Amino acid sequence: MTKNTRMTKQKQVILDVLRSTKSHPTADWIYEQARKQLPNLSLGTVYRNLGVLKDMGELLELNYGSTYSRFDGNPVNHYHFVCLNCHKVLDIEMDVEERLNNKVEEVMGCHVKHHRLEVYGTCPQCLCKN
Ligand code: ZN
Ligand code: MN
Repeated sequence: MTKNTRMTKQKQVILDVLRSTKSHPTADWIYEQARKQLPNLSLGTVYRNLGVLKDMGELLELNYGSTYSRFDGNPVNHYHFVCLNCHKVLDIEMDVEERLNNKVEEVMGCHVKHHRLEVYGTCPQCLCKN
């Protein structure tokens, strides 16, 4: 274990900020909030610490390819719903289908560690506005 994986004050503040919301925020949002407690913080430090915290298993990075990543303070695998209208990312309150791993192992003849699932559509709030 390197000194990098220590839970520093900076990492703790970043993690506290992330875990204070269910909105799956971007690094920029986390930076703006964390700065209120650590005025000398830089955006680069936030990115670096988010990467280290991810490697430590403290958070999930939700990568959407072309757009910027969102971060999730709940490191346990779960499914997400992405609204194509307002771009909100919501937790789907259902269990991860472990059977899907077995199915893929059958089809591929491989070993599956985990799977990630993103569901896209229109969220309940946006549906109400129509
Ligand atoms: Zn929406
Ligand atoms: Mn989530």
